[in-house]
Amino acid sequence: MNKNKVWLSSPHMSGNEMKYIQQAFDTNWIAPIGPNVNEFENTLQIYLGENNHVAALNSGTAAIHLALMLAGVTQGDEVLCQSFTFSASANPILYMGAKPVFIDSERDTWNMCPKVLETAILDRLEKGKKPKAIVVVDSYGMPAKWDQIAEIAKKHNLFLIEDAASALGSNYKNQKCGTFGDIGIISFNGNKIITTSGGGALVCNHAAIKEKAVFLATQARDTAPHYEHTHIGYNYRMSNVLAGIGRGQLEVLQDRVAARRKIYAIYKNELKHTGLQFLPEPEGHFSNRWLSCILTESFEIREKIRISLQKQNIESRPLWKPMHMQPVFKEYASYENGVSENLFKKGLCLPSGSNTTENDLQRIIYLLKEF
Ligand SMILES: *Cc1c(COP(=O)(O)O)cnc(C)c1O
Repeated sequence: MNKNKVWLSSPHMSGNEMKYIQQAFDTNWIAPIGPNVNEFENTLQIYLGENNHVAALNSGTAAIHLALMLAGVTQGDEVLCQSFTFSASANPILYMGAKPVFIDSERDTWNMCPKVLETAILDRLEKGKKPKAIVVVDSYGMPAKWDQIAEIAKKHNLFLIEDAASALGSNYKNQKCGTFGDIGIISFNGNKIITTSGGGALVCNHAAIKEKAVFLATQARDTAPHYEHTHIGYNYRMSNVLAGIGRGQLEVLQDRVAARRKIYAIYKNELKHTGLQFLPEPEGHFSNRWLSCILTESFEIREKIRISLQKQNIESRPLWKPMHMQPVFKEYASYENGVSENLFKKGLCLPSGSNTTENDLQRIIYLLKEF
């Protein structure tokens, strides 16, 4: 293991982060409130477009938790959730005492299949259980089929939550990811396209909803000189120091998207005669290509590739193991079509960080060509 470690997706600073962190120190705003938090929210709001309101939080998971609260989800409710995702999409449903119902994916974007979704809703209605909300993911940065999903949500009057944790910089028909649901969430974890080390944001379309999110995220303190509480609160706000990192990162978001898309294009071009498959962008879908993923012919080949990369100190990871296959969620209902299970068996995420060197990229491509 003498070669430098190549990471799947590592933080990539712009150089301006320290300036904003220094400002936080100079003004002594070392707290989960302050000018960096406000500016970070404003800049993100402007980027996402008019009518969007942003609450900066300490994780994407916290944002999903708050989104479920704002959706009015309560104990015993059912929440439809994309199965092909990271566990953080589903865990907050359990924090609410609610029950996830997992929905399989389609082949074009690997995200929630509108047909399976419709089938599931009708079946739940028939069983006398009207679901409360839907959690749809833009997996690996690829936007879901938003026209169809939004139409189904509207038809059945279901609260729509967009998990755009890894999809900042992506869009569908020129509308930015994070803005498709009644509430959207974004993550700024260290491995995402831009980062605050750990952090998240809740995106909504009314100032009053943002206000409510911030209220819940700051211990639900009612207006009074003493501490007065009529609600259970949480400590979910973003630190002003970390928002400084976020301000420096937002300045280079477009560069980071361009760099990741270029990495995807290089993989795709260099590996076109290998039999490895990629996920093309369907018409209208623009992906930030957070992670470049390949599909191999079989589980055995996938594993051979993964292990040979590992031997060269190169990190890769199988595609999401669907939530309906996870031991912790085995008791919950799911509607399956085999798509996500197949993706998990044959798929692999390749190193995709915007700071991956040309040299490392060529090393990876060389190894993959050997198969
Ligand atoms: C990263 C991620 C999350 C969680 O975000 P955190 O900021 O790490 O809490 C949720 N959903 C998806 C799809 C993610 O990739």
